[in-house]
Amino acid sequence: MELFDETLHSGVNLALDVEEVIYREKTDLQDLMIFRNSQFGLVMSLDGAVQTTEKDEFIYHEMFVHVPLLAHGNVSRVLVIGGGDGGAARQLMKHRDIAVTLVDIDRSVIELSRKYMPTVSGGAFDDPRLDLVIADGCKFVAETDERWDVIIIDSTDPHGPGEVLYTLDFYRDCKSCLADGGIIITQNGVPFVQESELKTSYDRLGSLFSDVTFYLAAIPSYVGGVMAYGWACDRAAHRKVSLAILAERYMAAGIPTDYYTPEVHQAAFALPLHIQKMLTRKD
Ligand code: SAM
Repeated sequence: MELFDETLHSGVNLALDVEEVIYREKTDLQDLMIFRNSQFGLVMSLDGAVQTTEKDEFIYHEMFVHVPLLAHGNVSRVLVIGGGDGGAARQLMKHRDIAVTLVDIDRSVIELSRKYMPTVSGGAFDDPRLDLVIADGCKFVAETDERWDVIIIDSTDPHGPGEVLYTLDFYRDCKSCLADGGIIITQNGVPFVQESELKTSYDRLGSLFSDVTFYLAAIPSYVGGVMAYGWACDRAAHRKVSLAILAERYMAAGIPTDYYTPEVHQAAFALPLHIQKMLTRKD
């Protein structure tokens, strides 16, 4: 049997059996592959790195979306940068009275995810509340004069086209697109094997926002331990919302979830000491 061998982190390989290659294409921008694995179902990889899998994407996307939206409590407009697999968009569509702009650089990712992994996007790309833009997210935020309540940076890792989505200039431009009290959430990798990316994002976001931290979730197909979502905001009250209020909002929203609960939301922000030490370590 063929093996998919992810070598995203030096010295660490993730090997997945390839039961069947469903699709493979070198798009203009990325090497895209969709294959079937006995544990994870359909798996999408870009440039040799696992992006999303049918079986565990709910964890990654529920925590990416419901944490900022239920913490904020009054979100009507969301910008997603990246997210071409449609998983974040599917979770966003569970919220009423919402307008989503999704900006992804590679149309092929969207088209192939819709065609071969339709459960991930769940029809979100056909929802009239979603405005799809094919563009470099870095350019888009530098040029737009629109504002959003939450910006979700659902990017690949900082290699290839995704690299620009971790720069200070990009974060600065995202901040200028945020409505008052808005929240930015980043895909910030697996701290145990991507410590430098965590620290760099922390320092860059910390130079722009007063409340910067991370929250955690364990995504089985992301090797190396828990992964971190970056949280950046100028309204600390959002992160301090009580469990009772979160529970009230969660019930009122009537959102079906399989991982997210208000208790998991709160607990996700409790950073273990070794990760806290990564953030304060002097280089
Ligand atoms: N869950 C994945 C992870 O944790 O790495 C991310 C999934 S999503 C498929 C990543 C998306 O980022 C891809 O669709 C890719 O095309 C998009 N992307 C990469 N660089 C981009 C850029 N500069 N602007 C907009 N989208 C970008």
